[in-house]
Amino acid sequence: MKTEQAAVTRQTFDQVILPVYAPANFIPVKGKGSRVWDQQGKEYIDFAGGIAVTALGHCHPALVSALIEQGQTLWHTSNVFTNEPALRLASKLIEATFADRVFFANSGGEANEAAFKLARHYAVTRHSPYKTKIIAFHNAFHGRTLFTVSVGGQPKYSDGFGPKPADIVHVPFNDLAAVKAVIDDHTCAIVVEPIQGEGGITAATPEFMQGLRELCDQHQALLVMDEVQCGMGRTGKLFTYMHYGVTPDILTTAKALGGGFPVSAMLATEDVASVMAVGTHGTTYGGNPLACAVAEAALDLINTPEVLAGIEERHHRFHAALNAINDKYAVFADVRGSGLLIGAELTANYQSRAREFLHAAATEGVMVLNAGPNVVRFAPSLVIDIEDIDAGMARFEKAVARVITPTV
Ligand SMILES: *Cc1c(COP(=O)(O)O)cnc(C)c1O
Repeated sequence: MKTEQAAVTRQTFDQVILPVYAPANFIPVKGKGSRVWDQQGKEYIDFAGGIAVTALGHCHPALVSALIEQGQTLWHTSNVFTNEPALRLASKLIEATFADRVFFANSGGEANEAAFKLARHYAVTRHSPYKTKIIAFHNAFHGRTLFTVSVGGQPKYSDGFGPKPADIVHVPFNDLAAVKAVIDDHTCAIVVEPIQGEGGITAATPEFMQGLRELCDQHQALLVMDEVQCGMGRTGKLFTYMHYGVTPDILTTAKALGGGFPVSAMLATEDVASVMAVGTHGTTYGGNPLACAVAEAALDLINTPEVLAGIEERHHRFHAALNAINDKYAVFADVRGSGLLIGAELTANYQSRAREFLHAAATEGVMVLNAGPNVVRFAPSLVIDIEDIDAGMARFEKAVARVITPTV
């Protein structure tokens, strides 16, 4: 028997949730594929994907049945006992990548926290207690724990919390000379997003990625790739490093890994992983059977030629539509990105107004994201129907028209 539930509205948010978010003024209650409905029954086409998370759309039948099956079998064991879904998922991730070892956690920030601790611990145990410098990039985003927010390159997120973890240096992204100027034998790691997501959808150049690998090798530093946003098929290969032919020592993945169920993973080579011992690091929930069962189903679907090959066509559909809108309204200075991680940077006339486009889009019935103040971001399902792209872009065009012709 279902108990009566109290009515909640968008106003409830303002009363009960820590005021760190500014959610839209409607509440989604239902999703199917790339369509979402709010409390009032209004329909939206979802180009936001829960921030690059729902890579197979909402309530994909294969993920739903994995969740139900595991939900009726075993929910949680902790790491005092291992479990079958975690072992299967780890084996598949290893099979599909450079990695030999996997650590599971629950969020991107936690996977990165593990990665940075591992990089430091490797350098300290293998080389020297002074080999602790981490090189990272301006506008990078790696999560909100104090360590990850400090490695992130946006001081507005890390200031105001007292002393930060030390020995972290930030240099401009895609500037190899700047990295050369700061790297030395005390450097334990370079941390890089192959495509900066929150920072504005900026891809590393091939020369930059190649150069980072070479500099790491010269200085016995580890190359850590944060693929929390750009991984799991988002750019048309399972992981973005595969486009570059540059292999990391440590890689983190989260967002799309569970298709909407919270789960993350840090992947590492055997050599790097071997410095860890029982008790060096851990988490209660990491590798939870429900999370891993869903992620296994997501990986089984995403890592197929059908899904990966379909991303290119969808990418072109988005680009063509955005360029057509731009031909008409001249709002974008640049349309960029890879696969289904696309950014449309606003022209000087619309500086810092990306959120207005988000609000207008919601009004017209399409969910989009921003990436910083000047970039409208699209991170839809990797299997979004072409008709949904076309219908959503028609709505987005109306939203653009709405922003540039304000009603008096
Ligand atoms: C979202 C994101 C994170 C943080 O993930 P959370 O799950 O929010 O902790 C880290 N790195 C990148 C590149 C991200 O996009």
